[in-house]
Amino acid sequence: MPWNRRECRRSTIFSRTSSTTAALNRGTPMMRRRPRTCVGCRQESPKREMLRIARNAAGDVSVDPSGRLPGRGAYVCLKEECILSARKRDALSKALRVKVDAGVYDTLLEMAAGAESKGEKEQ
Ligand SMILES: [Zn+2]
Repeated sequence: MPWNRRECRRSTIFSRTSSTTAALNRGTPMMRRRPRTCVGCRQESPKREMLRIARNAAGDVSVDPSGRLPGRGAYVCLKEECILSARKRDALSKALRVKVDAGVYDTLLEMAAGAESKGEKEQ
């Protein structure tokens, strides 16, 4: 039965249709380019010199050194003077629209002090 063999070969060819359509254009993320303004000195700085403080949906405030936590974020320079002036005006609470615990400012001050001493060691 020669026809049977031919039929078989043809069917294998037709079954090899790869239907993996690229799902790359599914919802391009919005590139939000908000200026990163320090809540202390009110100046814009490159991101790497600033520290992000994030507030999540539950209203919890946390220092976000990676800058990747979801939610509203505020930025402050990693400088003692900026953090102190922000604390004086409670600028973080205003920027994040939630009451920021005083401990957050303490954490920031510690990080600023740590960053400074670390920089001296590396030199
Ligand atoms: Zn600043």
